[in-house]
Amino acid sequence: MSEKQIYGAIEAGGTSFVCAVGTGPEDLITKEITTTTPNETVSKVIEFFTSQTEKVSAIGVACFGPVDLNVNSPTYGQILSSPKLDWNGVNLVEKIQQALKVPVKIDTDVNGAAIGEYRHGAAQGKNNLVYVTVGTGIGGGVLVNGKSLPGLLHTELGHMFVPHDINQDSFGGNCPYHADCLEGLASAGAITERWGTKKASDLPDDHQAWELEGLYLAYAMVNIILTLSPEIIIIGGGVLKRKPLLKIIHKNVKKLLNGYLPLEAVSEDIESYIILPQYHGPAGVLGALELAKQT
Ligand code: ZN
Repeated sequence: MSEKQIYGAIEAGGTSFVCAVGTGPEDLITKEITTTTPNETVSKVIEFFTSQTEKVSAIGVACFGPVDLNVNSPTYGQILSSPKLDWNGVNLVEKIQQALKVPVKIDTDVNGAAIGEYRHGAAQGKNNLVYVTVGTGIGGGVLVNGKSLPGLLHTELGHMFVPHDINQDSFGGNCPYHADCLEGLASAGAITERWGTKKASDLPDDHQAWELEGLYLAYAMVNIILTLSPEIIIIGGGVLKRKPLLKIIHKNVKKLLNGYLPLEAVSEDIESYIILPQYHGPAGVLGALELAKQT
């Protein structure tokens, strides 16, 4: 009989690193470490793992990005161009592997959350799914057969282009690369800039901002459905805390698809097809734990 395997997980975020050791949601020791400089943060992370009585056999990292996820690349695990400038070029995989001498697997934070939902939340049994987060930025994780879609880089669903009717919406968009891509039109920052408010959450439920937001996000959902045909789409993030928004998205997705897809999931039961995250535990860190199990 083999011994019970203990795994390590790190959800590496811009404001904190959540570290964990254990086997699953019922057996997890976690610690939150404030994100400061790379050196200070990484040494605290390593200290957390070395101070545990049980040694982990592998570590999974769900990381803010963009990150080099190509295992064959010489810079695998490196943070490529983070807005947190001092983290640019930091190779978390290398640092952790060297210090702890265990295999390390890295993926994006949103893929981590998608894996967490897949294993423990709303998407259980749905092997092909998309997870979109709409907050300060817009990110998207894509799982195919329960694993993140491999490719040149991770997916960047937030920067897809969506129709922008300048007569209806004169705001030019705020993505520094593309101006009016999805993120440039529909992130929390785009909402506050467009409507001249401090926080998107200050706008009342009946503000026209939400109809427009729901339309842009529906364009994104339609593009995702048409290109990836996922079994379920989970949409979360701070902006989706706005109650009426999901309904507006549902309404517009049906309208835009116009009956084209012969799918009951879309035509009859879209409320169970495009859904909010359902898992209220630490989906990101549990996703990272699953990554460790995949090494
Ligand atoms: Zn963009």
